[in-house]
Amino acid sequence: MLLAEPPSTAFDLHFSIGKIPVRIHPLFWLIAIGFGAIAVRGAGINMLLGMALWAAAVFVSILVHELGHALMARAFGWPPRIVLYGMGGLAIYSPGRQQTRKSRILIDFAGPGAGFLLGALILGTVLVSGHSVQLPGLPVHIGNGPSFTAGAGRLELFVLFMLYVNIFWGLLNLAPVQPLDGGGIAKAIIEKYRPRDAWSIALKLGIGTAVTLAAVGLFLWQSVFLALMFGMLAYNNWQMLQQVR
Ligand SMILES: [Zn+2]
Repeated sequence: MLLAEPPSTAFDLHFSIGKIPVRIHPLFWLIAIGFGAIAVRGAGINMLLGMALWAAAVFVSILVHELGHALMARAFGWPPRIVLYGMGGLAIYSPGRQQTRKSRILIDFAGPGAGFLLGALILGTVLVSGHSVQLPGLPVHIGNGPSFTAGAGRLELFVLFMLYVNIFWGLLNLAPVQPLDGGGIAKAIIEKYRPRDAWSIALKLGIGTAVTLAAVGLFLWQSVFLALMFGMLAYNNWQMLQQVR
């Protein structure tokens, strides 16, 4: 969910996965650990250990998410690379001018899609082990058996973080708000029916959705973080709309 690639630094980490180059900007770790401090509050675990577990879960999950985008772009013949930066990542590829609407939607969806697959795999493992689980962030309880709860140990906490980022964040990321993946998909669909003013319709939809989610986050889920995040996105979409006019 980023628009521009940050300049390289002396602290960048480089490696590649299946010939896809990956670059990790130092801010990625700082922000992941910072949010870890919020995520670990009240989990009944050592703060530093909890923050490290959170950062590990965010690292694996965002890498898998970007790999989803990157592998789909490669399937269309456009060699991708991945940058992890700030609160998320970027899968960069050059489609040239022949990119179709279908390929844009598929590449946008492949990120959250890869996360849902990973989340389902972890959820399946928890259920097969004879436990039930409350999906973090969602009012959904799956399975019978004794509850697989946080506070029991580091593995349980890591699993709950993974489910939270891959499933809950994945769903939020599909909201039709710019520049989330759902925003890209919404814009591609709107362009089919209203090619002339697609961008301003997509931004108005983004403002409405983001304001609604900020309110739901604050009043229904008591999450200041979600309220701030979608409040900022609403403002962002409104600013972009001013530029269109
Ligand atoms: Zn994405």
